Amino acid sequence: MLQDTRIRRPRIPPFRRRELPGIYLAVLVFGLVAPLLPPLDAGDLPRTPITAPVVEPEAPAAPPPVQVQLVAPAPVVARAAILNKLTDSHTVALTFDDGPDPRWTPRILEILQRHGAVATFCMVSSNAVGQEALVKQVVAAGMRLCDHSRTHDEQLPDRDKDRIDDEVVGAEATLSTAAGGAPVEWFRAPGGNWSTEVAELSAEHGMQPLSWNIDPRDWERPGADAIVAAVQQQILQQAPDGPIVLLHDGGGSREETVEALEKLIPWLAEQGYRFGFPVP
Ligand SMILES: [Zn+2]
Repeated sequence: MLQDTRIRRPRIPPFRRRELPGIYLAVLVFGLVAPLLPPLDAGDLPRTPITAPVVEPEAPAAPPPVQVQLVAPAPVVARAAILNKLTDSHTVALTFDDGPDPRWTPRILEILQRHGAVATFCMVSSNAVGQEALVKQVVAAGMRLCDHSRTHDEQLPDRDKDRIDDEVVGAEATLSTAAGGAPVEWFRAPGGNWSTEVAELSAEHGMQPLSWNIDPRDWERPGADAIVAAVQQQILQQAPDGPIVLLHDGGGSREETVEALEKLIPWLAEQGYRFGFPVP
């Protein structure tokens, strides 16, 4: 019975019946002799692990986070509705208008980078002509671009269609080229002077119309401490709306803005804000 069972197993080759006695004899002899042979040296044995394989230890834990928190960049889907606050009440979007300016933009960039913060730069495209390296430096530092028109014409809504096209769409092309092809994701009307036409035109060209809800009027140069105090007071009043802060890196001396920023970034971080971009 046992023999029949074994030769029916599919893995055993189909020996012819008359070969079987020889095979069984060989197996029997080996079974008798093998126990008498000296054991193999342990070094000759295959290195089969007895216990679970050793797992490589994981990489050391990441270093502690930088001073401020960032919000991961997300692509902006432009809508014609003007964005003037953030839905996420724990995120702050810093925005700098009227640059690029070779005197102030690099200093503001340095402060942002030193603190690990990000901001959106609303550039006047005529200021970007001849400052292409600075525009690229802004993008390379992890900042993002906003079109603030070609000439900062605060009467933009009153202009004819061709002029508006040039100030909105033409400026975007100039800025994107200066930036080496980086996207320009927002449009901010000069002086905050909007019309439905301007807002819709910017959205049609993939630029979210962008306003603000925190304005310390740094361009009036009230003193760095007054800029800091105004931002703090307005943010505490506006909460829980996520703040979009209007500051300037062009249009005159921004020494006070630079000094204020050194105090504002740590204060915002202490309030629990993450630094991000103006996404609805
Ligand atoms: Zn402006």
